Amino acid sequence: RFIAFEGGEGAGKSTQGRLLAEALRARGLEVVATREPGGTPGAEAIRNLLLSNEGPGWGPRAEALLFAAARADHVDRLIRPALARGAWVLCDRFVDSSRAYQGGGSGLSDDDVMALHAIGSEGLLPDLTILLSVDPAEAQARLALRDPDGADRIGGRSADYHARVAAAFHRFADADPARFALVDASGSPQDVHARILAAVDRA
Ligand code: C5P
Repeated sequence: RFIAFEGGEGAGKSTQGRLLAEALRARGLEVVATREPGGTPGAEAIRNLLLSNEGPGWGPRAEALLFAAARADHVDRLIRPALARGAWVLCDRFVDSSRAYQGGGSGLSDDDVMALHAIGSEGLLPDLTILLSVDPAEAQARLALRDPDGADRIGGRSADYHARVAAAFHRFADADPARFALVDASGSPQDVHARILAAVDRA
């Protein structure tokens, strides 16, 4: 099965991915825990291009193409082979991040983002997408602890941009309740983990 974690920065996606991977492994399952942009050497190289604070940065279309290219390599070389042998794949972000950031945030149409995804990754979708929903102030506080200088983030984005991203994520979840589980990401990591495990067991 293929499970993606989605949400804004500071929602706790990577922590929760780790906790879910441990819980599933404890049940004897093979789990491949990965992230995007990244997950394979080629896609990690593209991640470095995207996150580099040197140079002029990327326009929305070039950025969308780079994310789609990173995902294509990741899907082809890691995710599809793992699914084919029956492993569980847990991915920190997937195509809904492109729909939310390059779409909702930067203004590309959802059709264009999905067209790039069709070309790059043959439209692969997770079986379950866990959308972690967190209060913006709490997300900011978590980020200030984890990444105080912003080295791990694409900079130069306004609060309004991030509000559009959050709104887009919620629209996608509302539109596709069969694929999405909306999980309240407030509270301790263990509290959130329990909510996620319940959503996975329900799915
Ligand atoms: O997942 P993580 O927070 O490490 O992502 C790294 C950076 O890439 C963040 O700034 C995130 O907002 C950005 N990103 C993006 N579009 C995506 C995926 C991630 O702008 N499709």
